[in-house]
Amino acid sequence: MVIKMIDELRSKLGKNKVLTGQDVQERYSHIWTMDQPLAAKAVILPHSTEDVSMALKICHAHQQPVVVHGGLTNLVGGTKTLRHEIVIALEKMDRIEEIDPQSRTMTVQSGVILENIHQTAESENLLFPLSFGAKGSAQIGGVISANAGGLRVFRYGVTRQLVLGIEAVLADGTVINSLKKIIKDNSAYDLKQLFIGSEGTLGIITRAVLKLVEAPRSRTSAYVGINDYTQVISFLKFMDKSLAGTLSAFELIWKKTYHKMTTAGESNPPLPYDYEYYVLVETLGQNQTTDQHQLIALLEKAIDQKMILDAVPAQSKSDLDWFWKIREDVRVISASCTVDQHFDVSLPIPLIGDYAANTIATLEKMNGVNHCYTFGHMADGNIHLVIDKVDHSDQLRMAIDQVVYSPLQAMGGSISAEHGIGEHKKAYLKLSRSPEEIALMRRMKKMMDPLGILNMGKVL
Ligand SMILES: Cc1cc2nc3c(=O)[nH]c(=O)nc-3n(C[C@H](O)[C@H](O)[C@H](O)COP(=O)(O)OP(=O)(O)OC[C@H]3O[C@@H](n4cnc5c(N)ncnc54)[C@H](O)[C@@H]3O)c2cc1C
Repeated sequence: MVIKMIDELRSKLGKNKVLTGQDVQERYSHIWTMDQPLAAKAVILPHSTEDVSMALKICHAHQQPVVVHGGLTNLVGGTKTLRHEIVIALEKMDRIEEIDPQSRTMTVQSGVILENIHQTAESENLLFPLSFGAKGSAQIGGVISANAGGLRVFRYGVTRQLVLGIEAVLADGTVINSLKKIIKDNSAYDLKQLFIGSEGTLGIITRAVLKLVEAPRSRTSAYVGINDYTQVISFLKFMDKSLAGTLSAFELIWKKTYHKMTTAGESNPPLPYDYEYYVLVETLGQNQTTDQHQLIALLEKAIDQKMILDAVPAQSKSDLDWFWKIREDVRVISASCTVDQHFDVSLPIPLIGDYAANTIATLEKMNGVNHCYTFGHMADGNIHLVIDKVDHSDQLRMAIDQVVYSPLQAMGGSISAEHGIGEHKKAYLKLSRSPEEIALMRRMKKMMDPLGILNMGKVL
């Protein structure tokens, strides 16, 4: 039966697009576990939407579970694959089909790496604002499926706000083409939103139309030292008000994390280790000289008003790279942990300070926890926690989950601000969504993938 299906896939798609045996084992299911060979029945490497459709038709007919692989950078076990599953990997669908400077759109296949999208937009003096540390590996299809957030959400929104059109293939091979370049379309249900953030459980994204914006001509950044969380909020409001729309990032790093980020990797600390909180701000504007002066003047004013204690602005392109490398290189933290466990919770901004303080204090007293590193996109109400713990045991993992997740419901927060649910957070979905919402999600899944073959056991 299995051989028949693989033969059918080979005969319909071509031999070079269906890997088995040793070729499968040379691959992996996550960029952080490249030393662990992939276990799967086969890997399909489609080149086109038609290939994806054909592959799914065959898998559907054989009730064959499929796992979708993009850039393999998700942090929720979304691409974990079992021996009996077939992988559909989108890496060969890496064509940028069009950039349209008038409509300010880019049409891409879903396997294009995010960083290539940035570079292509730049070549037309445009910007695709979505960016995060894994931009060199993440594919746009994976980014859309995860509804990724990242470093500039505060100004430009999450992926959902930056996708105008989508083409996706349903579990039975049906192609849904919603690839328009228009911003406004109220002709009944906005079906593309179903595929955004559903982590490959409702369909495989094959192409997308992305919304671009005019590229900024200036970029400034500074690290700021603050001791009190209420002052962090005051500083955010002060900067946002004063900059009238050009504030593009406001990243918060707790002291211990800043210390680790600037000692365990290659980066030196821009500010001394004297403060409880380090804020990395960024502005994107139109005039480098004026914007740099404005940033420095605002930082001086904030120091005079005792809102902040210290600040260092980036003075050059290499300073900008240095400042951002510290924040983006999360791998430095993970690599320093015995075993790492990641969280990306969402909370109303005023509650973050106390939530983090209580959670860190509880975790660091817990047997089996070495350290708790905290940082995040504070202006979006989103903080990340990386827990350094002693082992992989389920007991320890669940005890840590409990401490991190249990206060969130009462605070009106979410167990996932941006990484999604995948496999790791499935058991806790009920803390973020009501029983009625989850029941409706299940009905939608059943309708769009009645046999449940797409990313089986993930999300719901
Ligand atoms: C260092 C680092 C920093 C990060 N920082 C951020 C951050 O700041 N903000 C943020 O939001 N996220 C961040 N992430 C996680 C981020 O969400 C993912 O890296 C990215 O969005 C997933 O893209 P990918 O191509 O790697 O997808 P994968 O990991 O391959 O897949 C992600 C999910 O989407 C599915 N999928 C993949 N491709 C498709 C497709 N074409 N159609 C349907 N389903 C598909 C997969 O089955 C899986 O469920 C970070 C990750 C790392 C490693």
